[in-house]
Amino acid sequence: MELAEQDHRYLWHPFTQQRGWENEAPLFVERAEGTDLFDTEGRRYIDGVSSLWCTVHGHRHPTIDRAVREQLDRVAHTTMLGLSHPPAVELARRLIELAPPGLTRVFYSDSGSTAVEIALKMAFQFWQQQGGEAAKRTRFVSLRNAYHGDTVGAVSIGGIDLFHSIYRPLLFDTLMAEPGDAADLERLLTTHGDEVAAVVVEPLVQGAAGILLHPPGYLRDVRDLCDRHGILLICDEVAVGFGRTGRMFACEHEGVSPDFLCLAKGITAGYLPLAATLASERIYEGFLGRFEEFRAFFHGHTYTGNPLACAAALASLDVFEKERTLERLQPKIALFEELLEPVAALPDVAEVRQRGFMCGIELAGFPLDQRMGHRVTMEARERGAIVRPLGDVVILMPPLSITAEELTRLVEIVAASVVAATAEAALPLAA
Ligand SMILES: *Cc1c(COP(=O)(O)O)cnc(C)c1O
Repeated sequence: MELAEQDHRYLWHPFTQQRGWENEAPLFVERAEGTDLFDTEGRRYIDGVSSLWCTVHGHRHPTIDRAVREQLDRVAHTTMLGLSHPPAVELARRLIELAPPGLTRVFYSDSGSTAVEIALKMAFQFWQQQGGEAAKRTRFVSLRNAYHGDTVGAVSIGGIDLFHSIYRPLLFDTLMAEPGDAADLERLLTTHGDEVAAVVVEPLVQGAAGILLHPPGYLRDVRDLCDRHGILLICDEVAVGFGRTGRMFACEHEGVSPDFLCLAKGITAGYLPLAATLASERIYEGFLGRFEEFRAFFHGHTYTGNPLACAAALASLDVFEKERTLERLQPKIALFEELLEPVAALPDVAEVRQRGFMCGIELAGFPLDQRMGHRVTMEARERGAIVRPLGDVVILMPPLSITAEELTRLVEIVAASVVAATAEAALPLAA
């Protein structure tokens, strides 16, 4: 049986209407190198979204390849439940050294969703164990259009109706604030402040909302408001962490230390599934007690802190240091801004939103059934670039390691694809 036929017969793809999928010839990625993906037909594509926002240093980086192979020769998997292992310890230390001050403990899991679930459960349990008035802190505040993952807890604090509204009856009730509007959050906390366990935000940029940018100073305001009301702050840096905004962590831009920092996507540079929830010592101490008090955090995934994944993450941090990734990124961010100027001027582009190496190109109001974002993706594929839209927002998230030439080519391809897709739509529909 043909591979395409088998795909159509046996697979169910994420975030995909399978009925449309069955009519398309799937692109099968066979291998990759640096910024490029190669399909089974031998065609080459520039990876314009870092394989869903993960491959920080590009594909098949020799340092990370070697680190994973060497770990494979030691042990591929062991457990963190009752045992420990060197790469998990070393990675925890290095994450704490890099993270905003005040974060002192690392709890591993395996996806962005679980990193967030863990922060929610820790915050909740923390207040319950404080007892008294504090035990009334049972609710969470998140932002409209927020995305924190697809598990039920993460969906409860999600604000994207398209993804989340159908599950409402299943979810816990969350207070929603207007993104980027500190006054709105202040109003909410003035009324509900003493019921709130934690405020959850994606710092600076709401990725899945379509690269929604918060105004400068907003994150700082959120931290101050949390402090004023004695509320914990959970920063979900699953998308923005590991250099995406031009700093290692987005919180650094505003000198903010959250009580919890959620990391995933870029943590292993796209090699293996791993996530980390960093917590402050105050939170950690809230779980200490005698064995028979049962104050432990009763949570742990089977593959938590997998050694191969930790080895990849450690090697990625080595690459950040050795290649001075963040320093060398700065001129590329400036170039990216420059390259996007003519894209913003295209007649069918409503807005281009960019922060560091995250960009959303919002197309001007096309009817839903035209699937204009998808059409742009298909045009880009023809021209040798892989991008993926969020509705009618075309997302660009190049690897931080991309060269100036590749970046130029990527943006040119996307611009040409927008022009081609929208021109086609302007024509009367063929029968
Ligand atoms: C992708 C993402 C998640 C979910 O991560 P998964 O690994 O897909 O579970 C959570 N939060 C943010 C901000 C994300 O971008």
